[in-house]
Amino acid sequence: MNIRWPNGKSFAFSVFDDTDLAVPGNFEKVYACLGESGLQTTKSVWPVTAQGFEARSEAGSTCDDSEYLAQVLRLQKSGFEIGYHLSFHTGQKRNEILGGLDRFKELFGHDPVSMSNHASSEEGIYWGPARISMPLRAVYRTLMRRPWGSPHSGEQESSPYFWGDLCRDRVRYVRNFVFDEIDTLSANPEMPYHDSRRPYVNAWFSSTHAPEINTCLRALSEPRQDLLEASGGACILYTHFGAGFQQDGSLNTRFKELIERLSRKNGWFVPVGTMLDYVAAQRGGVQSLDNAARRRLEWKWFKHKISVGGTS
Ligand SMILES: [Zn+2]
Repeated sequence: MNIRWPNGKSFAFSVFDDTDLAVPGNFEKVYACLGESGLQTTKSVWPVTAQGFEARSEAGSTCDDSEYLAQVLRLQKSGFEIGYHLSFHTGQKRNEILGGLDRFKELFGHDPVSMSNHASSEEGIYWGPARISMPLRAVYRTLMRRPWGSPHSGEQESSPYFWGDLCRDRVRYVRNFVFDEIDTLSANPEMPYHDSRRPYVNAWFSSTHAPEINTCLRALSEPRQDLLEASGGACILYTHFGAGFQQDGSLNTRFKELIERLSRKNGWFVPVGTMLDYVAAQRGGVQSLDNAARRRLEWKWFKHKISVGGTS
């Protein structure tokens, strides 16, 4: 079903920015460029710092880094959505996860609307092999050399990292699959969707895979922008704005050129949560994924995964 976008817009575009690597000095100009171009997107955060770790490190900053937090709050004030990227980059146990969610709410005034799992955290919910169903899961485990399971256990009630009920009660949208297509909605027309096999997540969304500057420049190339516009669909780009977009104080000029070009199109440039709320409302609410659609999505992602490797 084609979505009729608001205000006569012909397509929708957003970004979910995974906060890995982002520290003061390596991402602000990206947001200045997006803001000046009229694009409002989603920046994720780690709300707290696990005991024994620093608020600012090579892994990225947390909201305990006051300089970083001030910037994040400025972004929220100017219309960007602040998303959740688990409580921290290493897994914390349930009580600390609860503290992270509470801290998020205290800082930003509400529970997270959208979130993504971090690649290597025990808090990960339905992550690793649990992203997909048997028998494909068994093949995946073998290929990833994880025959005994997964480090992620956020949905397992017996795990000290269990927070599935908190996720269900407090988080609206969680990212699962990523694809190459610039039109994420055509790759996953069911999104946002509920998957009854993964009941602690209210609704899932997919993204267009562009983890760092070079893949992002390819994803946003002129022909692909034109394709998105012609499709009338929606793109949720998944990237890490801390990964090479701003270096030695300068924003990548090609990125700036591509964002400015995109902004001149008749697109609806809104945060991930706003876009997903709108799509769900057009369909009368979040729909449940049926078995055939689940199979199709899982296989499609699996093929993508084999072709690109990596953990996202
Ligand atoms: Zn991450």
